[in-house]
Amino acid sequence: MGALDLDDGPLRLHFIPYPSPGHMIPLCDIARLFASRGHHVTIITTNSNAHTLRKFVSHRLRLHTVNFPSRQLGLPEGVENLAAVNSLEDSARVHEAAMLLRGPIEWFLERNPVDCIVADFFFPWVHDVATKLRIPRLVFNGFSLFALCAMHSMYANDNVVRDLPHRITLNATPPKALVDLTKPLLQTEVKSHGIIVNNFAELDGEEYIQHYEKTTGHKAWHVGPVSQICRTAEEKTERGQESVVSAHKCLSWLNSKRANSVLYICFGSINQFSDKQLYETACAVEASGCDFVWVVPEKKGKENESKEEREKWLPKGFEKRNVTKGMIIRGWAPQVLILGHVAVGAFLTHCGWNSTVEAVSAGVPMITWPVHDEQFYNEKLISEVRGIGVEVGAEEWDVIGFVEKKKVVGRESIEKAVRRLMDGGDEAQQIRRRARELGKKARAAVEEGGSSHKNLTSLIDELKRLRECRKSNNNPV
Ligand code: UDP
Repeated sequence: MGALDLDDGPLRLHFIPYPSPGHMIPLCDIARLFASRGHHVTIITTNSNAHTLRKFVSHRLRLHTVNFPSRQLGLPEGVENLAAVNSLEDSARVHEAAMLLRGPIEWFLERNPVDCIVADFFFPWVHDVATKLRIPRLVFNGFSLFALCAMHSMYANDNVVRDLPHRITLNATPPKALVDLTKPLLQTEVKSHGIIVNNFAELDGEEYIQHYEKTTGHKAWHVGPVSQICRTAEEKTERGQESVVSAHKCLSWLNSKRANSVLYICFGSINQFSDKQLYETACAVEASGCDFVWVVPEKKGKENESKEEREKWLPKGFEKRNVTKGMIIRGWAPQVLILGHVAVGAFLTHCGWNSTVEAVSAGVPMITWPVHDEQFYNEKLISEVRGIGVEVGAEEWDVIGFVEKKKVVGRESIEKAVRRLMDGGDEAQQIRRRARELGKKARAAVEEGGSSHKNLTSLIDELKRLRECRKSNNNPV
């Protein structure tokens, strides 16, 4: 059937996000992207997680909620997300509870057939359901394609990354538990109709897109950076969770600073550092002499402790001494808003993929400090492959950010890396120029005619084609 014969009616899609901000925020942005093109999407989630999404509900974007079995797993009522816990044990409980959502979600999927199911790779069972229902399944895992290529290579070559378009030597080895968790998930993922990637083709690079498709036989659709869907300061501030500071407060503070003079520090939504590590970081930031915005997550489960107790890591007099130089945000920060301000000159980051691609979109160079998941791969894309950041020298790879780290990254290494970017020497200027150029490409990618905009159009066409095949009884899946 030719393209002109396609039924042009809106597609219907179900989205199933995994309950962790790093997975949920971008997948819900992707759902919004489809809705913005006139398609009908339903996000299937749980009650607490639905809370932050209600503002997006329209006749094109609906929510379907199922109960999260918190009690069954011994979690407090309302704790339904990895960002709501602070221990390895509780994170395992949240994961287990998420796996128990299969029953109610499958029940819903069977009674509400659609044209496509887009599910997080942490729900491999969707493969069986989609196959049974003869519905195309797309996977989202929140990784860059570069990281995926590296993971596939590592898993095929006994923990060594090789045969990639660039020679990559990682600064650490992934923990066995992480490999055991992700390896089978990636094997199921490649049986899907394709993956949706929160990145733009120019950052992963054509060489990695071809490498991925050649080595896995699987299709990747780059439709990002998806954070670009937030246009106004309000949308940027409300992305994910509600920010603890207003857009106005952030912007007026940043407006008082020179261009590229502020270091932004944030380690994502999950990672928790020890008091010793926080102390070293504070000493390094102060010694570097630059202005800063530092996001320090509230320690969950420690709400009843006094502020002094919770913040005993803070060097004596730190806040008083830095009253005009720094802003500490305790809790959820409006990251996309902050990164987009001209005063921000560098981002000290754990290299979570969302944070990385958000920094790239804003043209902000990075100081890389990977901690868990696939962040050590992202670090190499940033520092060695694209040359838009410098490494702090972290060498301890956790399964997840709650684990008490054995090594502390010393203040000297942190200060040195910060100075490399913030002191404005030749190297810093070159890195900044490359970051700025990539930022322009990132923003152009999502505009009409840009690579991600076109990819979304061809993905939509492909799903329409599959719908036609189903109608005429040819199994498309
Ligand atoms: N984020 C935010 N404010 C915060 C902490 C995190 O907006 O205070 C957002 C950030 O912009 C990103 C996501 O949460 O979109 C974190 O995802 P990432 O992949 O960077 O790291 P993870 O939290 O999964 O480790």
